[in-house]
Amino acid sequence: MVITDPNHGSSCMDDFDPASLDAEQALSQILNTVQVIQQTETVPIRKALGCLAAGTIRSRINVPGHTNSAMDGYAIRGTDIPAQNQHALTVIGTSWAGQPYQGPIESGECVRIMTGAALPDSSDTVVIQERVRIQENRIYIDSNNSPGQNVRLAGEDIKTGDTVLSQGKHIGPAELGLLASIGVNEVVVFRKLKVAFFSTGNELRQVGEKLSKGQIYDSNRYTLYGMLSRLGVEIHDMGVVKDERNAIEKAFSDAANQADVIITSGGVSVGEADFVKETVQKIGTVNFWKVAMKPGRPLAFGSISNAWFFGLPGNPVSVMVTFYLFVKPALKKIMGGIYNEPFTITATCSSRLRKRPGRVEYQRGILTRSDNTSADESEYTVSKTGPQGSGVLRSMTEANCFIILPVDSSGIDAGDAVQVLPFEAVV
Ligand code: AMP
Ligand code: MG
Repeated sequence: MVITDPNHGSSCMDDFDPASLDAEQALSQILNTVQVIQQTETVPIRKALGCLAAGTIRSRINVPGHTNSAMDGYAIRGTDIPAQNQHALTVIGTSWAGQPYQGPIESGECVRIMTGAALPDSSDTVVIQERVRIQENRIYIDSNNSPGQNVRLAGEDIKTGDTVLSQGKHIGPAELGLLASIGVNEVVVFRKLKVAFFSTGNELRQVGEKLSKGQIYDSNRYTLYGMLSRLGVEIHDMGVVKDERNAIEKAFSDAANQADVIITSGGVSVGEADFVKETVQKIGTVNFWKVAMKPGRPLAFGSISNAWFFGLPGNPVSVMVTFYLFVKPALKKIMGGIYNEPFTITATCSSRLRKRPGRVEYQRGILTRSDNTSADESEYTVSKTGPQGSGVLRSMTEANCFIILPVDSSGIDAGDAVQVLPFEAVV
């Protein structure tokens, strides 16, 4: 007699779905399919903050432009440093930052010099002021100095012709400063990506409205707004669309007319009112719509006319996980950037985590540095936040990382090592 455990059997079937793509396969399919937008624009550098460089930027100048002093002190000729005893030098003038001493200095002479001031001709060394004895208009230096010290050479940071930014480089605060340091006031960047999104669901209400029984507030448009804003894209929030074929089709055509990327949430499951996938199949292409992951299995990817389409699940946590793991890398690529696989950390898990084989799981965790680390323990400890349901958005606000449990894992025990993806690396 064969004894079957109906619960066990069906739950395994729940998690294993032959129609689902592996998460890695799904990401590489997305990244191999989407293409970089071609249009670029020239903008003043401050406007380029958050954009991606559309070409290589080379310096037309040396930085620093002139050999200058790294300290406050006295500019001398290195050959005047005595082998022993003290040597007197006559102070013949001062070199200020922005107001250099004009003319050369001879052997036996020196120039008072401030940090950043150009070195006078024929000087090559700075003796810091704390290292000299001053007597009237003379200074005394000793053998405890070496030629070339305390000097920043012209072109030490950047030489004329050096590449300072390559194509696809994200322009952040440091890059703005770097561009300014080479005197660049305008830069060519990829134009801003236009991203349209809408929520689907008859149960959704707007914040500010009253809820009737069975209704919920639409939170996905807010998380999406937050996540997209950080990427510096142009946002088109199209609101909530009812679970009706015509309404959804109209929303998709409007979105495809105005945006480079369309993101929806909800309506991609297999419920009676889930029209998103069939609509995109009708007016565009669906490349895939299921990924073996939790949360986030119903994740659709495709295109409508010239717009890329991401159909995210409806559950609020699933929206965030699928956005960070699939949509964000894709947007980066379309925007002209480079996708770098986010770094993960090995941590010791402080509690038992339940899981069934069949899908990779991204549980929400709290990562901390371990107190007493012995040689065989990880430097980090992770614990899960409370309930892990894909609708429990609080788990995202309490967490600072995802705990990654691989497809085949059937859970882990307290004390086991796990891979953790810090939010810092993805958000
Ligand atoms: P669906 O994929 O449309 O079946 O949605 C899955 C679950 O997510 C349901 O419980 C929905 O009520 C919920 N949901 C869908 N869209 C949203 C939204 N915009 N904000 C909050 N919850 C949502
Ligand atoms: Mg729905």
